[in-house]
Amino acid sequence: MEMAVENSLDGDPTDKVYINGSEYTLEMLTKKYFRFWNEVTHLKIQRLRVQNASILTVDQSESFHEAIHSQLIGDNWKSMKTLTGMEVMCNGCSKCQKLIEIVEEYGPIGIETIKKIENPVHFKKLIVTDG
Ligand SMILES: [Zn+2]
Repeated sequence: MEMAVENSLDGDPTDKVYINGSEYTLEMLTKKYFRFWNEVTHLKIQRLRVQNASILTVDQSESFHEAIHSQLIGDNWKSMKTLTGMEVMCNGCSKCQKLIEIVEEYGPIGIETIKKIENPVHFKKLIVTDG
């Protein structure tokens, strides 16, 4: 699943998110669709790439990050293989940390987060930033 947060043209905070090419608002996703996909359609998400989330406000980032974990991924976290673009919305929470240790592809990852990894991990692909 590719998720891209879109810039608003007028410079106001954006609420548009494109998922595999379809447009949603952040509110629709966090209040409705994530839960629906997980609980009703039993979507087992394996690959999630979030792009451009750094343009979200702090509040938006927090609720988006939380909704991705609790509603979209939920109990299916063990089937995750790819997770990218979350770090800009996260200060290194235990949920992301748990996923870092099981996915094949993760990034961007900061040095501080790498230091917190406790178990041996084997990435096929790791995207590291110096931030
Ligand atoms: Zn996190």
